[in-house]
Amino acid sequence: MTIIRVALDVPVDKLFDYRAPGASTADIGRRVVVPFGRKSAVGVIVETAEASEVPAERLKSAYDVLRDLPPFSVEDLRLMRFAAEYYHHPLGAVVVGALPTRLRRSAGPSRQASHGVYRLTAAGAALEPSALPPRAKAQHRLLARLEQGPLPQAEARTLFPKGQPLIKQFMTRGWVTVAEAGAGATPAASVAPRLTAAQAQAVTDIVGGLGSYRPYLLLGVTSSGKTEVYLHAIAAALEAGKQSLLLVPEIALTPQLEVLVERRFPDTRTVSLHSGLAESERLENWRAAATGQARIVMGTRLAVFTPLPALGLIVVDEEQDSSFKQAEGLRYSARDLAVVRARQRGVPVVLGSATPALETYHNAISRRYTLLALPERIGAPPPTIRCIDTRIEKMTDGLSPRLLAALAGVIARGEQALVFINRRGYAPVLLCRSCGWVSACHRCSAQLVLHLPERRLRCHHCGHAAPPPAACPECGNQDLAPIGHGTQRVEEALVRHFPQARILRIDRDTTRRRRAWETMRRRIEARDVDILVGTQILAKGHDFPHLNLVAVLNADGQLYSSDFRGPERLYALLTQVAGRAGRASTQGEVLIQTELPHHPLYAALARQDYRGFAEAALAERREAGFPPFVYQALLRAEAPRLATALEFLSGAARAGRALDARVTTYDPVPAAMPRRAGHERAQLLVQSAERERLRVFLGAWHDALAHSRVTPARWTLDVDPLEF
Ligand SMILES: [Zn+2]
Ligand SMILES: [Zn+2]
Repeated sequence: MTIIRVALDVPVDKLFDYRAPGASTADIGRRVVVPFGRKSAVGVIVETAEASEVPAERLKSAYDVLRDLPPFSVEDLRLMRFAAEYYHHPLGAVVVGALPTRLRRSAGPSRQASHGVYRLTAAGAALEPSALPPRAKAQHRLLARLEQGPLPQAEARTLFPKGQPLIKQFMTRGWVTVAEAGAGATPAASVAPRLTAAQAQAVTDIVGGLGSYRPYLLLGVTSSGKTEVYLHAIAAALEAGKQSLLLVPEIALTPQLEVLVERRFPDTRTVSLHSGLAESERLENWRAAATGQARIVMGTRLAVFTPLPALGLIVVDEEQDSSFKQAEGLRYSARDLAVVRARQRGVPVVLGSATPALETYHNAISRRYTLLALPERIGAPPPTIRCIDTRIEKMTDGLSPRLLAALAGVIARGEQALVFINRRGYAPVLLCRSCGWVSACHRCSAQLVLHLPERRLRCHHCGHAAPPPAACPECGNQDLAPIGHGTQRVEEALVRHFPQARILRIDRDTTRRRRAWETMRRRIEARDVDILVGTQILAKGHDFPHLNLVAVLNADGQLYSSDFRGPERLYALLTQVAGRAGRASTQGEVLIQTELPHHPLYAALARQDYRGFAEAALAERREAGFPPFVYQALLRAEAPRLATALEFLSGAARAGRALDARVTTYDPVPAAMPRRAGHERAQLLVQSAERERLRVFLGAWHDALAHSRVTPARWTLDVDPLEF
C-alpha cells in the first residue's frame, strides 16, 4: 500500500498521511487533492511511505494526484524544508505558499494561455502620440505600453480587458504585429556595449564560477554598470544551456528591466514573477519557468522558490534592499535564501549593490564571498555632494537661500531638480501652541499626519483618518499649527517661490492610482517637469537623464534612529537618491540640508566612500556586539494589554535561559511603537555569536512556546530580524 505524506497550508507543523493507490516516488513534489475536514484541499506530496502511523480505519484516500505540471524537484523541496526549519514556519504553509494562487485551488490550471506577444512595427514605433485622437485614452495607453517593449498576450488581456478590438485596429493599420514570445529579432534588439576593464574582470570571474557554488559581492558605485555585468553573466549561462534567476526588490522596476533583458536576448523566453501580475499570467510564467521553457526568470522575493530545472546562475540586484525580507507569515530573506539555494544547487550567486548590507560586506572582506568591485562611474563624473548648515542659514519654509538659488539656476538652464523628503503629507503633526495638545492616533503610539489637499489627519500605521478639528479638542484654541514638513508642504512652498516652474509631487499619495507612476515618468522624460518633490519612491533605479540637482531635506532624524541599522539604511538611501543626479553627460550636484554638516556619515557620503563608511560602522558593530558579529532572533508578542504581552515574554525569557545559558536572552521590552492598531506590543531579543547554537536553541524554544498552555498573546518569531 502506498502512503503519501502531504504538505497542506495549515498552521500546524506536520504532514498528513493519505492512501494513494498507484502513487509512487515519482509523484513526490506533485500537487494532490485530498479530503481535509469536511472539505477538500490541495497539498503537495512531500514523501511516500509503505506504512502510516495513522490507524488504518482513520486513514483517508487521496482524491486525485495532479500530473498536469512538472512536480517540485527534490531540490526545490530541500530549499523549502530549509526555509521552514530556519524561519520556524510550518512546512505545509511554505510549500503550498510557493505555488501560484491558482494552483492552490483544486480546479487546477485553466486553459493553456497563448505565448504570443504584441510588438510595435517600425510604423508603430515612429507613431507620435499626437497622431491619435486626444480623447482616445485607451489608444494612448496601449501605445504607451507598447513603446516600453513587447506586450505578452496574457498581459494584454489583464491590462486591456476590452482591448481586443483596439489591438485588432492597431494591427489593421500596420502599427502592431503579433509574434511568438522570444521568436524573431525585434527591431529594438540591442547590442552589448563594450565593457570597462573592471566590468570585464567581474564577468570573467563570475563566468569562471559557472557550474559550482560561488557567492560574489558585486560592489559597484551608482552608474558603474552592474546591470551590464549581470547581462553578460546571464549570456554565458544561456550559452551553457542554463536558466538564470534575477531577483529585484521592486515590482516597479521589473518592467524596465524586462524590456532591457528582452532587447538583449530577443530569442530567449524571459518571464517575470511578482505579486502585481494577474493570476493567469503568474501561473503561465511559473509554468514556463518550471518546464524550463523560460531561460531567464526575473522576479521579486517570492520568485526565489520558483522551480528551475536547469538553474545555472542567481543574481540578486540591490541586495541590501529591505523588501527582500518578508515581514509577515514566513519571515524569510529572499537574499539569504538565494545564497542557500545557490549552495544547494551548486551554482554561482551574484549579490549586487552600491551599498551592500553590512552582513554581506563583512562576508566579502572576510573572504566568504568573492568581492568584485566596479569603482568607476560610466559616463558623467560622480555628482558633487555638499552639506548646507541649516543652523546658520536663514530658512524660509524649510528651504535655505543656497538651495533656493540652486533651484533657480536649474530652472533657468532648463534642467530638472529633485527635492527629496522622505515624509509624505503636509505636516507630520498638528499642535496647539496654547495647551500643547498634539494630533495623536487613538489606536497607535503615533502622531496623525496632516494631509492638506484632502483635509485629513491620517495615521500612516493603521490607516485611521479623520478631518482635522476646527479648534483644539482640549482648550478650544482655534489656531492649530502644522509642525514640520512633508512633501505637500514642500510642494506648496516651491510653488510660492517658483510660480512659473512646473512642479510634480511623487509620493505614495499621488502614485496610488494604477499606472499613475508610469504617466509621471513619461512627463519627466519628456522634460515636462522642472522640479520633482518626492519620497524614496524616486530613489530606486529610475534614470532621469535631465536631472542635475538633488536636494535632500530633513534626513538628520535617521542618524539617531533607535534601530542600530538606521545609519546603514540612511547611507544606502542617500546614495541612491544622490545617484539620480547627473545621469547623462553633465556632472550632477547634491545638496543636503542638515544641522550636522560634519557628521561622519555625510562626510563619507560626500567622498562617496562606502567602504570607509562600512568599515567604521562594522568596527562599531563589533564593539557593541551587533550583527554581523552576532546572530539574532526577535520574539514579538501582541495583546490587548501591554502587561499580558510582557508577562508572556517573561515566561519565554525564563524558558530560554533554562534551555541554553550561552545564548543571550535579553529582558522583554515594549516595542519601538508600543501600540499599533489597538494592540499593545512587546518584544524579546535573543542572540548568540554562533549561528548553529542559536539555530538549535530556537528549535527547542519555539517548540516549548508552541506547546505552552497559556498564550494570551499572539506571538511570532523573527529570525535575522531587520526591523526592531
Ligand atoms: Zn489646546
Ligand atoms: Zn494608528
